[in-house]
Amino acid sequence: MNKPALHLNLVVKDIADEMRRRPDRGEVASYIPELARVDPKHFGIAVFDDEGNLACGGDCDMPFSIQSVSKVFTLTLALGRYGDRLWQRVGREPSGSAFNSIVQLEYERGVPRNPFINAGAIAITDMILSGHQPREALGEILRFMRFLAGDATITIDEAVAASEQRTGYRNIALANYMKSFGVLDNAVDLTLGVYFHQCAIAMSCKQLAMAGRFLAHNGRNPATGMSVVNPERARRINAVMMTCGHYDGSGEFAYRVGLPGKSGVGGGILAVAPGKASIAVWAPGLDAAGNSHLGRVALEALTKRLGWSIFGA
Ligand code: GLN
Repeated sequence: MNKPALHLNLVVKDIADEMRRRPDRGEVASYIPELARVDPKHFGIAVFDDEGNLACGGDCDMPFSIQSVSKVFTLTLALGRYGDRLWQRVGREPSGSAFNSIVQLEYERGVPRNPFINAGAIAITDMILSGHQPREALGEILRFMRFLAGDATITIDEAVAASEQRTGYRNIALANYMKSFGVLDNAVDLTLGVYFHQCAIAMSCKQLAMAGRFLAHNGRNPATGMSVVNPERARRINAVMMTCGHYDGSGEFAYRVGLPGKSGVGGGILAVAPGKASIAVWAPGLDAAGNSHLGRVALEALTKRLGWSIFGA
């Protein structure tokens, strides 16, 4: 192993050790009953550098519910199908409000602020569903994840999907509200069915870091040489991750970590160091904004030690 890879390994192991010991673990999401059962002691991290070296620590092979991290991939898929027309349906400004907030939707006539808050992600899923049966749309999303991660074993945790379907009152309200403005094309229950299942995709940190590599390398996964999106599109997806990926915690994440990142209430975060690395962390305990507490702490330590913040040392 070369010197930078050795150093990366050391840093990642250090961070995993520190995170295992920390007492401040945040609170696991409780509004999805199945997620409330996850042990907050878990911590995993996986980093793929530009040469394809993998450094990982903790529970980096254990699948977890990717939840809103899936929104990066559905945005990528929908951009592939609709191109920039997508932005007529969904904005790309930070919301400054919670991920499941409904307030802005009334002012903005049902047009969600960005594709990463729940309303925006539901609108994107609705676009992917159009012209398909829910099963086909879900199959397309899952195949895309498997293709990006190079791993055909990735599946959907049906118990998590069913759990959210039973208790997803807010999302049902958001979707109905958007539907009343004509922003959704499909039946609300069909769009939400796909959305809840995409959120319930289970992946490990290793699989997720692999799936995110195209965003770190101008749209191309260096492992396969396959181009997923063009460089301009990769840059723009990263920009939206930077400004909106952590909801009303996006400013804090930029301030502390300094990388485009997308969180999920399962406790996962995918972060992208452009030209350098794709990083996935998982710590199920969340902060007040619904973002992984130790996930963010770990990423802050990583970018600090490696000088990876896009804003400089
Ligand atoms: N499935 C979750 C929800 O819609 C995703 C939210 C999240 O991960 N922030 O509430």
